[in-house]
Amino acid sequence: MTVPCKFGFFLVHWRVSWGRKSRMDIIERVRLLQVLRFAPLPGVKPHERTALYDRLLSDPPVPSPRMLYIGCVEARLEPNRHIGIPEGAAIIHRTMGAVVAGIDEKGKALRLGEAASVQLAVNVKNVQHIVVSAHTQCGGLNACLYGCDTPDMGYMDEYLKPFYPLRDKIRKHPKKVQMQELEEGTVRESLENLRTYPFVKAAEKKGLITLHGWVLDIDTKQISEVDQKTGTFQEMDVKYSALASRYLGKRRKR
Ligand SMILES: [Zn+2]
Repeated sequence: MTVPCKFGFFLVHWRVSWGRKSRMDIIERVRLLQVLRFAPLPGVKPHERTALYDRLLSDPPVPSPRMLYIGCVEARLEPNRHIGIPEGAAIIHRTMGAVVAGIDEKGKALRLGEAASVQLAVNVKNVQHIVVSAHTQCGGLNACLYGCDTPDMGYMDEYLKPFYPLRDKIRKHPKKVQMQELEEGTVRESLENLRTYPFVKAAEKKGLITLHGWVLDIDTKQISEVDQKTGTFQEMDVKYSALASRYLGKRRKR
């Protein structure tokens, strides 16, 4: 019995060493080692050992993120649940208003957190898609358009400043269309700002990444996507649960 058991131990040890492991993976795989070595495992019956073994050996590898999703900090939105992105399939960067600032004329990143997330996604994780997703009823964009009553909003003011030229143009339009114009306008501008990162521009030019701009309706969760040739937004004609598979296709090759 000793030899087959040890052989089993080494075989499984090799599998445990393979691939990236979540904390639960590690715990379960350690339990599997205990099972195969017939170590005492209180509460686990023989037939459960078989089930545990089968499940662990058929576990798919931990998925690699295919998408960088840049969304708002809005408390009513939960990107994985509302958009149908499987856990582990997207890097999610949340920032007020989902506005992307990019780099300035000297090449300096205007927001280090944003720059680091984009660089991680594009240069390290090799994502295929970057989505900038604004949403309706956004408090951040409301502050951009109409200001804020709170006396101390200096950081917010500084943060929103790159979008004030756009805001100033929109303020000349009828009030009933202003918010929608700002939602769509900031998405269009954020996509252009993303392209100020040289590595994003280069990856897009090589066809390695695709940029997408969305506005998510906070009530219905319907998504409108920008047509980047015309700049117009159109509602997506797909179910939310299908979105992830639509955008998370085969992993790209460098
Ligand atoms: Zn928001």
